[in-house]
Formats: sequence, C-alpha cells, structure tokens
Amino acid sequence: MSFAPKKSLGQNFLLNKNIINKIVELGHVSSESVVIEIGPGTGNLTKEILKKNPKKFIAIEKDKNLFINLKKKFNNNIELINQDVLKIKWDKFSENKIIVFGNLPYNISAKLLIDLIGLSNLNLLFKKFIFMFQKEVADRIVANVNSSKYGRLTILTNWKMSTKKIMDIEPENFYPKPKVKSSLVYFEPKNKFFNFSNSKNLEKVTDIFFQNKRKMIKKPLNILFKKSSIIIDKLDLNEKSRPQNLSPELFFKISKEYEKEINLN
Ligand code: SAM
Repeated sequence: MSFAPKKSLGQNFLLNKNIINKIVELGHVSSESVVIEIGPGTGNLTKEILKKNPKKFIAIEKDKNLFINLKKKFNNNIELINQDVLKIKWDKFSENKIIVFGNLPYNISAKLLIDLIGLSNLNLLFKKFIFMFQKEVADRIVANVNSSKYGRLTILTNWKMSTKKIMDIEPENFYPKPKVKSSLVYFEPKNKFFNFSNSKNLEKVTDIFFQNKRKMIKKPLNILFKKSSIIIDKLDLNEKSRPQNLSPELFFKISKEYEKEINLN
C-alpha cells in the first residue's frame, strides 16, 4: 500500500475476498439498482459491487487522497463525492430504494445510523443497509430486551428498521488490523412504525432513561413528566423496572406521551 492508513478516519481496509463477496451477495444488486457506498477507501468492495452493473453507483469518501485514487481507478463508472458522510443532505438524492453499503469508520458509525434513522423518508429512500460495525456496537443494535447490551441504539434502530447480525469478523481480515472484532449487520426499513412529530423526542427520552440504566424508571419519568404517576398508570408500568426491562414499544409509547406533555406546555 503506497500510503499510511489514517487512524483518525477509521481506515481499516477489508482484505478477505470471501467476506467481500458475502457483503456483495447480501446486496442483491441488479442492473436496476441504485447503490451508495460509504467510505469506499481503496475500492476493494467497490470493485466487486460494480461487477453487478448497478444502474447508478455513488460513493462518499472523506479522505482527499483516497478520493483522488478512486477517481483514477474507477473513472466515470461511479459518482464520487469527497465529503464527510455526516454532512450529506440525504434529501438531495432523488432516487428511491437505494442499497447502501458501508464498512464504516468506527468513530462515526453509531452517529451515522441514528442520523439516517431520523430521516422522515427513510423507508422510501432506502431499500437496505449492509454495514460493518465494531462488534460491540453491532451487539447493541441487535440486543434483546432484558440483556445488558440493550439500550438506546437498540430502541432507536428497532423503531424504523428490522435488523439481522450476519456474522462476526476477526481483526486479521483487515489492514491494518483493528484492536477489536467487527460484525456485519443487515438492515431493512420498516414500512409501519410509530409516528412522532419529531424523532428527537425519542432520542431525548431514551437518552434520559439510559443515562442511569441501573436506576429504577421512576427517576427518568419524574424528569420527563410533571405527573409521572399518570403515565405509570396509563401505560401500566412497573415503577421498579429498570430501563433495560422496557420493550421498544413501551419507549415509543412513553415518547408519544412526552410529545403530548411538551405540546401542552
Ligand atoms: N470500504 C473500504 C474497505 O472495506 O476496505 C474502507 C473501509 S474503512 C473501515 C472506512 C473508510 O471510510 C475509509 O476509507 C475512510 O477514509 C472513510 N471515512 C472515514 N470517515 C468518513 C466520513 N466521515 N465520511 C466519509 N468517509 C469517511
């Protein structure tokens, strides 16, 4: 490799051909597909996706040097955007049902996912995401209620997406070798989900609950509601529960009640 990978940009390039092929397979890309790849890096995955001849291929790479190399390598076969993916205005894409691939830089992966989930047209804009995360983040996304990994990321994702962990991937499959394991996660947007007037309200409610995940839920309820006892009765909550005992649906209902409360004041 003719350049030094940048740690600050989470540059761990995937080298294992079998895993790259597995990722491409999950996409079911055809000549009708519109594809976005986040962080194409040196183009290892890009090259294989392109073999499926998608109708359109857009790649978003923040690193200027990698961007220049990719431009040389792929000419006009892909539309390259040299930008921070966190600053992308997703609404500018007029296409529907885009397939998104990303071996994501670890430092932005959770933030990116939450931003995408917050988009009001998520289920129209995207068909699926095939994302690689740090294993610890992937485990939080797919966690079950009552488990130690269950939390904000589980609930926010579950709100609008169905998820499946495909496999864990050992550090040896990347260059340079990351310190931690990775996992591949498959996402599909749900067509039916709770409607909030502002998705930030669900983010806020889950944030307040999980700041103290070992404490009983009475405390966060008191922070959010003037009369928490009314909410406890209405939603039939057990005051002695801890945040990780409440299902995603209960968090959606609590957030709905919170929206009513702030609209009243
Ligand atoms: N897709 C390549 C692969 O699998 O070998 C590279 C994956 S590497 C884990 C992450 C890539 O995302 C790097 O190319 C890095 O430069 C790029 N990147 C990091 N932060 C980014 C950001 N905020 N926006 C867009 N790309 C970013």
